[in-house]
Amino acid sequence: ATMPPLLSAMANAGRHGVLVKSAVVMERLGQVDAVALDKTGTLTEGTPRLTELRPLSGPGLPGLSERELLTLAAAAEHPSEHPLARAIVAAARARSLPLPDAEDFASAPGLGVTATVGGRVVRVGAPARLLDGPAAPADATRRDAARDAVAELEGAGRTAVVVLADGVPVGVLGVADRLRPDAAGTVAALTALTDAAPVLVTGDNEPAARRLAADTGITDVRAGLLPQDKVTAVRELQAAGHHVLVVGDGVNDAPALAAADTGVAMGRAGSDLALETADAVVVRDELAAVPTVVGLSRAARRLVA
Ligand code: ADP
Ligand code: MG
Repeated sequence: ATMPPLLSAMANAGRHGVLVKSAVVMERLGQVDAVALDKTGTLTEGTPRLTELRPLSGPGLPGLSERELLTLAAAAEHPSEHPLARAIVAAARARSLPLPDAEDFASAPGLGVTATVGGRVVRVGAPARLLDGPAAPADATRRDAARDAVAELEGAGRTAVVVLADGVPVGVLGVADRLRPDAAGTVAALTALTDAAPVLVTGDNEPAARRLAADTGITDVRAGLLPQDKVTAVRELQAAGHHVLVVGDGVNDAPALAAADTGVAMGRAGSDLALETADAVVVRDELAAVPTVVGLSRAARRLVA
């Protein structure tokens, strides 16, 4: 017997390294006419590296050494599966730093982590969240020094990560990630398939997001988004009548993957929550497989019709 077109398309998707979870998903992929892409781990390789360590000090306030700063940040990040956390922990390992145990670990998707390390409450995360707003540190000298370091690193296209100890900014870390080699090709293929360039939806800072977007042919950039803001972006596209494809990898992408008409997760570095929530998983870590399976779905739909 010959296989029904959608089943053979699923098998074909599998050969391209994409696990499509059901025939319904296989069919729906072909209806997609708008795409929202996550940045870190999706357009980028998702194995960012620590590039700068900037301990902060103020008048009368002795600063930490670079090693102390990295030890504190890595200890707090150790339980996190976020790509930035992995970069920080890997840098500590590369320097053979012994990591003290962290207690009371908590993570806020898209924002950062909190943990108690050596009796100090350590927070590591997004500068906007840790330096501005109601929770801004009282210590103005170090807060301003932290803001300066953040501006400098972000201006250089880095993702800046702020470290607070007991509410005091003690350092800023710079992290850099590489664009996937097939990112620009994938954006071009998705643009051709949907007659519109994908939208970039990221929790990261605007300069880093714009720089990356420009290298791929994306012009619509939504930066500094919380997980729920990514959902809002998807809903807006849907309200305009689009069938929306979301591609993401993180815990912070899970709500948008669920809201999408079709959600696709990047498998290699993807969080468990993203893999469970998505309708399909790119197992072989090739972003270019995403437009390929959209094309497979369209071909199968033509045969079914
Ligand atoms: P993206 O949407 O590009 O994948 P995320 O939403 O995962 O980015 O993260 C957005 C921002 O939240 C990061 O740029 C960082 O500032 C902060 N952040 C999230 N998780 C962590 C973490 N574990 N450690 C440090 N910062 C974090
Ligand atoms: Mg991500």
